[in-house]
Amino acid sequence: MSVSGLCHVCEANEAEHTCPQCGTAVCDDHFRQTRGLCVRCVETAGRDDIANPGDGPDDDDIHRI
Ligand SMILES: [Zn+2]
Ligand SMILES: [Zn+2]
Repeated sequence: MSVSGLCHVCEANEAEHTCPQCGTAVCDDHFRQTRGLCVRCVETAGRDDIANPGDGPDDDDIHRI
């Protein structure tokens, strides 16, 4: 496709995707279509919603002194 070069994860296969989060070009084996992210970002994100603090108005419940 338009992506040229090798996968930055395995550096063996041709990169076919570019991760929208980190911008890393990865091959099909290292891109998770279900998440739309490279495997590195999927590993960093961990479980779906737990590792995503600050995404809600939870700060309002904290009494700041
Ligand atoms: Zn790869
Ligand atoms: Zn990524």
